[in-house]
Amino acid sequence: LPRIGVLAVQGDVREHLAALTALGAEAVTVRRPDEVEQVDGLVIPGGESTVMDKLVRAFDLREPLVRRIAEGLPVYGSCAGMIMLADRIADGRPDQQTLGGLDITVRRNAFGRQVDSFEQDLDYAWSDPAVSGTTGPTGRTGPVHAVFIRAPWVEQAGPAVQVLARVGEGPAAGKIVAVRQGNLMATSFHPEVGADRRIHAEFVSIVREHRLQQSGARQSPERE
Ligand code: GLN
Repeated sequence: LPRIGVLAVQGDVREHLAALTALGAEAVTVRRPDEVEQVDGLVIPGGESTVMDKLVRAFDLREPLVRRIAEGLPVYGSCAGMIMLADRIADGRPDQQTLGGLDITVRRNAFGRQVDSFEQDLDYAWSDPAVSGTTGPTGRTGPVHAVFIRAPWVEQAGPAVQVLARVGEGPAAGKIVAVRQGNLMATSFHPEVGADRRIHAEFVSIVREHRLQQSGARQSPERE
């Protein structure tokens, strides 16, 4: 089983643990530096990025996290997690740091106070065809029902960044809300709140693939 950690200093940790467990991963909380070393992949949940940043530094997690990201650890960031993975924040607090890794600039609370939270169906560019098909691990097809809660958007993305989803309608139409760059993946929205597990399944698939590469296997992984 792939062992996938959920950074558990702040935010909606439990929902991610449940989603990962439902997909057959061994899901564990990560709070200490040594726990960072023991996972095959990591989820950084939604929450409040300024608080998460402070706690990550206070718990001496910053150095091991930045190092493992640089070494190629698969990491999925949702909402505040996306902010933590961004190389740049458009309007961060002066002392706010991110872990970085994704060549993107994010804007925090980008959708504005009047639309604190909203939901929208999004077209999603799946990386793993097995995930999006009816025979995939979740049996779901069609658009992703995305839940946004004081969400960031991606203001600018470098050439190595794949855009996976954009807002489809409304005043923010066209804004980038899901990206991937190598083993790093991030969404502005919260897939852990609904019953659709495809986003997590995509991430588990990235983790599996990375583990196989690491163990020197040459063949592509078997799909369930
Ligand atoms: N607005 C929060 C931040 O800036 C993110 C909100 C969320 O994760 N739901 O960190």
